[in-house]
Amino acid sequence: VPELPEVEVVRRGLDAFVVGRRVESVEVYEPRSVRRHLAGPVDFAAVLTGRLVTAARRRGKYLWLPLDDEDALVGHLGMSGQLLVQPAETPPDRHLRVRMPLSDGNELRFCDQRTFGGLLVSAHGALLPTEIAHIGPDPLDDGFDDDAFARALHRRHTGTKRALLDQRLVSGIGNIYADEGLWRARLHYARPTETLRRPEVDRLLAGVRGVLRDALGEGGTSFDSLYVDVNGQSGYFDRSLDVYGRGGQPCRRCGTPIRRDPFMNRSSYTCPRCQPRPRRARW
Ligand SMILES: [Zn+2]
Repeated sequence: VPELPEVEVVRRGLDAFVVGRRVESVEVYEPRSVRRHLAGPVDFAAVLTGRLVTAARRRGKYLWLPLDDEDALVGHLGMSGQLLVQPAETPPDRHLRVRMPLSDGNELRFCDQRTFGGLLVSAHGALLPTEIAHIGPDPLDDGFDDDAFARALHRRHTGTKRALLDQRLVSGIGNIYADEGLWRARLHYARPTETLRRPEVDRLLAGVRGVLRDALGEGGTSFDSLYVDVNGQSGYFDRSLDVYGRGGQPCRRCGTPIRRDPFMNRSSYTCPRCQPRPRRARW
């Protein structure tokens, strides 16, 4: 599942290779991939054809391309979605769902094996599409308010990791980056949010931001060709992970074996020494 850094890499690719181009035509091969465009695939193609892409924006894991008026093409990659920019002569991927030839001879292609992702055109959505207005800003967003985040955590009465995964509170953090950010902040995932002191919230934000920036640094360097791929080369920065997936291996800070716990049908990785379990725990 793509997380924020991977989606940001895609946004940068769209910024470089799609902004300033016109959508010449639209072919929808899989109606499910535009199911969130409630007026249907024919309308989707009609409103998008001939439009100029003026910017590439992101909130959390959603992307949108403001068009030459107040509308925007909105994309969510879901589990397996890819937005590719390829020359028209490149043979299509077998999971090609929507094909959008551009005015410069390349094509914007939406491929999605599992079809959990999708595209829609949002009316008057250039600034912030209404379809994603419920998503909170991500911690790297200029609009992110640290004070408001600290207050919201205090009111929450939940576990710290669960709060990090709540897209209404803070977007763009999935299971991997939550574990990494908590390890950097030396906080346990089950720490009740209402007991976090302000310096601890600041440490948490610094930890999460550091992880996201490091991941972006690596994803960004692999992106240098006419190919925007969220599941391919950008990948997760596996070799840089400090705790995630490292159960039983020594903590890089103190040498204590990393512990793996089941968490919301997945796993949580912690260092028992750097991130002691709170006496009162919340899941
Ligand atoms: Zn440790």
